[in-house]
Amino acid sequence: MRPLPPVPTGDLPVVVIAGRPNVGKSTLFNRLVGRRQALVADTPGVTRDRKEGVALVRGRHIRLIDTAGLEEAAPDSLFGRMRASSESAVQEADLILFCIDARAGITPADEHFAQWVRRQNRPVLLIANKAEGRQGTAAALEAYALGLGDPLGLSAEHGDGVTDLMWEIAERLPPEKVEEEEEAWAPEPELSEEEEIRPTGPLKVTIVGRPNAGKSTLLNTLLGEERMITGPEPGLTRDSIAVTLHDGDDTFEIVDTAGLRKKARIDETLEKMSVSASIEALKMAEVAVLVLDATLGVHEQDLQIARLIEREGRACVLALNKWDAVEDRTATRKAILDRLSISLAQMRGVPVVTFSALTGSAVHKLLPAVRDAWTVWNARVPTGALNRWFEEMLERHQPPLVDGRRLKLRYMTQVKARPPTFVVFGTRAEQMPDDYKRYLVNGLREEFDLPGVPIRLQTRGTK
Ligand code: GDP
Ligand code: GDP
Repeated sequence: MRPLPPVPTGDLPVVVIAGRPNVGKSTLFNRLVGRRQALVADTPGVTRDRKEGVALVRGRHIRLIDTAGLEEAAPDSLFGRMRASSESAVQEADLILFCIDARAGITPADEHFAQWVRRQNRPVLLIANKAEGRQGTAAALEAYALGLGDPLGLSAEHGDGVTDLMWEIAERLPPEKVEEEEEAWAPEPELSEEEEIRPTGPLKVTIVGRPNAGKSTLLNTLLGEERMITGPEPGLTRDSIAVTLHDGDDTFEIVDTAGLRKKARIDETLEKMSVSASIEALKMAEVAVLVLDATLGVHEQDLQIARLIEREGRACVLALNKWDAVEDRTATRKAILDRLSISLAQMRGVPVVTFSALTGSAVHKLLPAVRDAWTVWNARVPTGALNRWFEEMLERHQPPLVDGRRLKLRYMTQVKARPPTFVVFGTRAEQMPDDYKRYLVNGLREEFDLPGVPIRLQTRGTK
């Protein structure tokens, strides 16, 4: 393997990982820094026993500092030791990643430490680690009480949510310094009606679907001449590859696991393998292209993969492939969409493209659709508009009685994008029955034009 040149760390934004011992700070550090850890230029004056590395987030280098490992060195109380190890690092932080263990819940040590971190007046991103699968949702909600903003659930060990984390970090970094000359030549910014959300790096896409749907053919057609295989990046597993594509001003990175391309092993059926490979690929992607063989209609396994897309919280574009071989196109399209929307609410209104990966006909429609789906996935609904709509919804259908008492729902706010995630506040809001949740989620999708993305709705009881 050819070593990369060392990255100078002088002017890089500083991101500090903090939290009590055992929440997974080192694991997160390794996950973000990956192979680059060994590449940090030796800087004189940097504390020896501090773990430091350079990580790449959305195309920008950051200096990442792990405050773990120092706890044992100091003689103080646990809290004193944590503080001592973090104090100097935190002084120079552009961003603090404050980690908790979502499985253990909030401990008094977390609370103490959070209080101290809050007083440092530095930007903080709260991370609920060890939240693989759906574990730790309750603790993540508890974590709101730390007063450090919305917790981001992830699994440093398994890699779930790490792509999202990179986004969240990139968004909070101080603006990049522009060379003076460049600045002098910069054109006047254009006035736009609405501020457009733009990707700050390549948009990460994955192509999923059953065996023989045409995924390899599609990838090859998309690649055409423009072919560039890039090496593993932080957040990608060792077996994965990324292929970069350009479409107009947009850059796409098609992330793919080697597993997707491998033929099934003897002890694994093709079906099983394509599902597990899809899970891996989905963790790394922002938008999933679900490829269906349109001549075969919708099968249970397609639904299974669609459910994974929803579970991983990715935006979805439905690709109906082998369109060249479809006879009655109108009927086929309708049959497929009906079947999907009956089985899966999140597929209602999903963007659909029809093409032939084999002949290349209409394949050019795919990337613009991916870009649009990405934009919806990033959407932010203003709180004012959200609550005007929410009030109407409450009037149209009163919240139900639970144990003979009516739920009092008060307001709603969007706590994050990618995917759009909302929290409803109210007395005993956490007891909201699923059908009322569905009513709200479907309403949100329609009113605020959020087709083809999973919408998360959380509830928080207030006194
Ligand atoms: P630190 O003391 O905060 O640096 O924590 P470590 O990174 O050393 O992790 C403490 C323990 O938690 C180790 O056994 C890790 O393997 C485990 N761990 C870290 N991240 C995760 C995760 O995402 N999920 C689970 N289940 N365990 C994790
Ligand atoms: P994968 O398993 O999803 O990667 O599927 P492949 O790309 O290997 O394609 C499976 C089969 O479908 C191959 O025989 C392809 O030639 C065929 N195929 C792929 N795309 C199309 C298409 O657009 N039209 C037709 N008629 N056949 C296609």
